Amino acid sequence: MLVLLSVTAPAMAVCAAAIILLLRHSERRRSLDERRYALLESLQDAFVILDREWRFTHVNERAELLMRSNAADLIGKRIDHIFDPLASELFPELQRAREMGAPIEFVQSFVSTGQAIEVRIQPTPDEMLIHLRDVTERRNAEKRLQDGERRLRLLLQQVPAIVWTADLDMRLTSASGTTLSDYALVESEVIGKSVDVVFASPDGASQASAVLERVYRGESLSYETERNERWLQHDVEPLRGPDGTIQGAIGAALDITEMKHSARELARQARRDALTGLPNRLALEETLDNVMARAQATRETLAVMFLDLDRFKVINDSLGHRAGDAVLCAVADRLRITLGSRAQVFRPGGDEFILIVPGPIRSEDVQTMALEILESFTQPFEFEGRELLISASIGASLYPNNASRAEDLIKQADSAMYRAKDAGRKNAMMYNDALHARILERMGLELELRQATSRNQLRVLYQPIVDISSEQIIGAEALLRWEHPQLATIMPDRFIDIAEETGAIVGITQWVLHQACTHAAMMRAKGFGAFRIAVNISARDLCEPGFHTKVSEILAEHGLGEDALDVEVTESITLNETAVRTISALQVAGVRVVIDDFGIGYSSLEYLKRLPVGAIKIDRSFVEGVAHNPQDQAIVKAISSLATNLGFGVIAEGVETAAQRDFLATIDAPSAQGNYYSRPIPQGQFTYLLQSQHAKPSRRIASLFGSCP
Ligand code: C2E
Ligand code: CA
Ligand code: CA
Repeated sequence: MLVLLSVTAPAMAVCAAAIILLLRHSERRRSLDERRYALLESLQDAFVILDREWRFTHVNERAELLMRSNAADLIGKRIDHIFDPLASELFPELQRAREMGAPIEFVQSFVSTGQAIEVRIQPTPDEMLIHLRDVTERRNAEKRLQDGERRLRLLLQQVPAIVWTADLDMRLTSASGTTLSDYALVESEVIGKSVDVVFASPDGASQASAVLERVYRGESLSYETERNERWLQHDVEPLRGPDGTIQGAIGAALDITEMKHSARELARQARRDALTGLPNRLALEETLDNVMARAQATRETLAVMFLDLDRFKVINDSLGHRAGDAVLCAVADRLRITLGSRAQVFRPGGDEFILIVPGPIRSEDVQTMALEILESFTQPFEFEGRELLISASIGASLYPNNASRAEDLIKQADSAMYRAKDAGRKNAMMYNDALHARILERMGLELELRQATSRNQLRVLYQPIVDISSEQIIGAEALLRWEHPQLATIMPDRFIDIAEETGAIVGITQWVLHQACTHAAMMRAKGFGAFRIAVNISARDLCEPGFHTKVSEILAEHGLGEDALDVEVTESITLNETAVRTISALQVAGVRVVIDDFGIGYSSLEYLKRLPVGAIKIDRSFVEGVAHNPQDQAIVKAISSLATNLGFGVIAEGVETAAQRDFLATIDAPSAQGNYYSRPIPQGQFTYLLQSQHAKPSRRIASLFGSCP
C-alpha cells in the first residue's frame, strides 16, 4: 500500500486567520489529494509527481513497476538523487520543461532493458507531472511493420514484373518492379497516368477499360499480352478497402518473355529428330494437316512419298548402330540435296523417311521424282572408309486422288512402299485401287491365317531330293500349302511373309515339323533308313528362345534321331546373335543346317564363315542357265567344288530338264531337286514313288513319277 504524503507548499503567514484559512485549505487539499490519489492509482499508465525541489510526492503502482522501486522508498527523495536509469534519463528533460514552462513529450529507449517508454512531462508552477507509458510492444510491432514494408518495397522493386495499383479512375497509384525499366518506364513518372502504360497492346488499342471494368465488378482476371516480342502475364484483382468495398485494382504483370522463348525452343526440339535434324513425326502430322488444308482451299494437288531403306537392319546388325546412325544422317543429307525446295523431308522414325511434295503435281511428276531419288542412291554411302551400297523403296500417294485425310494419305504411301519392296526392292510405286484391293486381301488373309492351322487348312507336300549319279531318292523337302476354302490352294509365297510378320509362323513351323517327322518316321518304318526330311525355317523361328530344344523334343516324340532332319535357312536371313546361336545349337545337336537359295544374297561367303553349316542349296536362278549359259555353268561349278572341298553337302535346286541334270552330273554335283525329278507331291504319292523306286531301283525317278497314280 502506498503512503501518499502531501508536501505542497504550506502557507507562509502565521496568524490565526491564516491558520484557519490554512486549516480550511489543507482540509480541501487533503480531500483533493485523496481523490487525486485514487485517480492516479486507477490509471493504466505510470504516473509520478515531483515537487518544486524535484522530490517525489506521488508514485502510482504502475510507476513503481517501471522504476522497480517501492513508492515508500521514493517519496521525499529527489529524482536526481536516486539511482535509476529512467530517472537519470528524465532529469535533463525535466529541467528543460521547467525552463520552457511547456510540456515535453518523447519516447525514450533503454538499451539495457530493451524497453521503450513514452514520456510526457507537464510542468505546473508547483509540481512536475510525469506520465510514463511502456510502449515496448507497440514500438516492436511498429518496427516489425516498418521492416516488413521496407522488405516488401525492396522486393517489389526487384521482382521481374510490374506490380501496380490503380484507383477507380484507372489511374496508377503505385508501380514497381524491374520490368518497368525494361519498358522504359519510371515509377515516379507513371504514377497518376492511365493503366494503359502497362496494358496497351502493340496496335495501341487499350485493353485496360474492358479489363478493369470487370475487375471493378469484383472479378479476378488472368491473361497474356505481347508487345514487340515481349510477353506479359497479367493477374488483376479488385483492391478492397477495410470495409470490403472495391477502391481500385491491384495487378502484377510478369515478364514471361524468357519462358515463351524456352517454350518455343522446346516445341521446336520436340518437332525435330535429334539424329538427322529433320522434322519428326509430330512435325509431319502438323505440316501435312496445314498443307492439305491449303491444298483444299486452293483446289491444289499434293503428294506424299514414303521411303524405306532396303535391308537397313543388316547394316545395323553387321556393322553396329554407329554405322546405322551414320547411314541415316547421310541419307537425310542426300534427300535434302536431291530434292532442295521441291519437297519437305521428315524422319518419323527408324529407317523411314516421308516427303511432302506440294502441288501442283501429277502422278507422272511423282514417279519422275521417285526415280531421281532412287538414282541418287546408286552412289555408295561411306562409313569409316568403307563403301556401303544402300537402296531404298518408295511408295507414293496423291491428294485428292487417293485420300482426303492426312492419316490415310500416309497409310497409302506406306502400303505402296511395301508393294515396291515386294516387287524386288529398289523400286518406286504409286498407290492405286488395285493395290488397295491387294492390301485388303492381305489384311483378310492375315486374319484367316490365324485360324488356318486349327481349321485344318494347311497341308504339306514333299519334293524328293535325289542323288544325281544313282538317281535314288535320299530325302524330301517339306513344302507348305494353304487349302483356302474359297481361294483354292494358296502358295507359300503369298502367305509365309504374312505369317512371319504376325508371328503365326512360329506355330506353323512346329506344325510342319510334326507333319514332316510323322512322315519321316513312317518312311523309316518302311525300311528307308537313310531318308532325310528337310523343313524350311524362318528367321522368326530362329529368334524364338529355346527353338533348338523344341526341335529335339519333336524328333524324340517321333522316335527320330537328329540325323533325320535338315533345317533350311534362307540366305537373306539377318545374322543376329540369337539366330547364330540357335543355328549353332541345332548343328551341334546333329541336325543338318542347309543354307537355302545359296548365291543370291550378298554375303554368301560370310555365311559359310560364320555359320556351322552342313549343306548348301544352289539357288534355282543359277541352275536355270547351266544347260547353255557358260557364266552360270562356271558359277555352279565353282560353288559346288568350293562347298564339297569345305566338307559341305551340295543340293542343286530347280532342276527342270535332262540337260541341266547332265551338266550337274559332269561336274560331280552330289544331289539335286526339281520338277525334272518330281514336283512337290502329297505324302501318299511320295510313299508310292519311294516304294516303286525301291522295287525297281534301276528305273529313273522321272519315269517313275510319270507312272504314279
Ligand atoms: P524354297 O525353300 O526355295 O523352296 C523351293 C521352291 O521351289 C518351292 O516353291 C518349290 O515348289 C519350287 N520348285 C521346286 N522345283 C522346282 C523347279 O524345278 N522349277 C521351279 N520353277 N520351281 C521349283 P514353293 O513350294 O512355292 O515354296 C516357295 C517358298 O516358300 C520356299 O522356297 C520356301 O522359302 C517357302 N516355304 C515353303 N514351305 C515353307 C514352310 O513350311 N516354312 C517356311 N518358313 N517357308 C516355306
Ligand atoms: Ca527350301
Ligand atoms: Ca530354295
